Amino acid sequence: MIEAHSSQRLQTIQNATLEAIASGVPLVDVMDRLCAEVRALVPGAWCVVMRVDAPARVLRPLAAPDLPPSLVQALDGISPDAAVACCAVGSAGDELLADSQLTRFGDVVADSGLVACWSSPIKAADGRLLGRFAFYYPELRGPTELERRVVHACVHLCAIALERDAVQSHVHRLAFQDGLTGLPNRTRFRQRARELLDALQPAESVTLLLIDLDDFKEVNDSLGRRAGDRLLKEVAARLGRVVDERVYLGRIGGDTFALVRAGHDAADAALELSRQVARGLEPPFESNNQRLTIGASIGIAHATSRELTLAELTHRADLALYEAKSSGRRGCRVYAPELAAAARLRRCFKQDIRNALDRGEFTLAYQPIVSLATNRLVAFEALLRWTHPERGHVSPSVFIPVAEEIGLIGALGDWVLHEACRTAKEWPSPIRIGVNLSPLQFGKAGFALDVVGALQHAGLEPHRLDLEVTESALLARDVATRTALHDLHDFGVRLSLDDFGTGFSSLAALRWFPFDTLKIDMSFVCDLDVDADSTAIVRAVIALARDLGIKTVAEGVETESQHHWLVQHGCAEGQGYRFGRPMGAAHAEQLLREPGRVVLPAPRSIGHGTHAAVQPSAAICGK
Ligand code: C2E
Ligand code: CA
Ligand code: CA
Repeated sequence: MIEAHSSQRLQTIQNATLEAIASGVPLVDVMDRLCAEVRALVPGAWCVVMRVDAPARVLRPLAAPDLPPSLVQALDGISPDAAVACCAVGSAGDELLADSQLTRFGDVVADSGLVACWSSPIKAADGRLLGRFAFYYPELRGPTELERRVVHACVHLCAIALERDAVQSHVHRLAFQDGLTGLPNRTRFRQRARELLDALQPAESVTLLLIDLDDFKEVNDSLGRRAGDRLLKEVAARLGRVVDERVYLGRIGGDTFALVRAGHDAADAALELSRQVARGLEPPFESNNQRLTIGASIGIAHATSRELTLAELTHRADLALYEAKSSGRRGCRVYAPELAAAARLRRCFKQDIRNALDRGEFTLAYQPIVSLATNRLVAFEALLRWTHPERGHVSPSVFIPVAEEIGLIGALGDWVLHEACRTAKEWPSPIRIGVNLSPLQFGKAGFALDVVGALQHAGLEPHRLDLEVTESALLARDVATRTALHDLHDFGVRLSLDDFGTGFSSLAALRWFPFDTLKIDMSFVCDLDVDADSTAIVRAVIALARDLGIKTVAEGVETESQHHWLVQHGCAEGQGYRFGRPMGAAHAEQLLREPGRVVLPAPRSIGHGTHAAVQPSAAICGK
């Protein structure tokens, strides 16, 4: 018979435990208190609560007051199901383990003086094993009736506490941890950075590094999101290996990671840290048997006083990152006040681009493309020019990304298309006009109709228009892009793959889209004769294109020897300063009126003589 007094005590323990759980007392404290109360109620037994460590599939002690530390240590990591662990139990009834089964713990158990264990499972509402509640006895005996009642009540209390804790941890993880990489997320990272800023002492600094992967979008688009995710995880792991405990690492955006560090030497350590990051990311990544190299751009900013808010520090690091990105891949920049001025300029720039179209500040320059077999001019590429009222000539490589960013590329691209078609209409057939397209123009519904509209408006035959697209425009391989390009091709418009060799999926693009021409990027052409790899690549590209029935155009031909090499290796057409710089429409027309339209100095070794109608330097326009 259990005394009324004990029953009442048990009831009080239950109530107190439930109250502690409800009011958010930390799990370990709730369990410690519960065990201590139980010990007081049943003095002849030692009480232990163990929790299942799910990833490791083992038990970990959560509360074990008065149990010898060596035994607690021995219990850490035992299997949740093994009967040999002194926690074995049957589902019908809890099981008593004799000392023979406790010998696994050898001397530890002998030293503790405990010879029997009675252990019960703690189960979740859905039946999952959450942990074990165990009594250890100094004599070989089973549980008393009171102890049975206590255990019955305790496993329920423990289940409630453990389930609630698991839910809370999950919510915490969702709120503060990046689900993909397991790193602290943006919210948690900002919390930590703010703590460091608040604790900043004189002569100390807090350093923030923003790390942004170069070309991650291309990887994602060409290899798929799963490959992209794997890459991000691997990047996170590598970053984790290069930082030490003084550095706090987080993932604060899609492909943006951040590091923050405080201390006397934080500012000095930043550059070394960024070098380590770069080195850590250097070895190629493996993805589906492909080797990928991916670099990162890094922006660094320091706070030397608590005056600087986290928002300001982040803004500075952002500006530095922007500079690092625009100065080429794998850049690293430290914030300096000039960067803020540059950012202000960029903001003005955005407004200026918006106005430029209305004010007629854009023009087109036309660069000759010649047949290498005949030395005759066969086409021009239209290149956009912007003359800023104060700053003069601005390069398209600078303003086109801004126009894309502010959503103006559609209108600008449309203007280019109409203007180019209108100009080309004045040229003798079959001289073609090449027009560059931004990837964002494809995304627009009705893009193919716009092109057809521009052709009809100008009265230009479709086969005289050559649309130049880069691989990145095609990476998404979405049905709309494909349909638009096929429709245009069926209509007779020519398609060129621009900057061939600089992207990720050149060969795949050739299979998916009906290209007529492949423009070999000037980075290979300029190395012809100098770099064996580039030479081999260009040779292979020409051969490959020939097999596929696609014409090749070499971009950026500047020297006679490059010219000569290309003629010898069967490249169809050439473009570059060797044949003429981009020029105004009037100059282009004048060139076309030249008898025979032979415009270039042919390579001497082929013996064509020299026809220098265009002096490369005399034809400069806007470059
Ligand atoms: P791109 O399509 O590869 O154009 C060729 C670029 O190389 C032009 O630069 C041209 O002036 C330059 N170039 C030509 N021959 C030589 C040479 O022998 N040596 C050197 N070093 N450079 C040469 P540009 O005009 O500054 O254009 C840069 C890029 O801007 C273009 O590269 C193209 O991607 C983009 N772009 C130009 N116009 C437009 C346009 O109307 N729309 C769009 N979406 N992009 C455009
Ligand atoms: Ca082009
Ligand atoms: Ca190009």
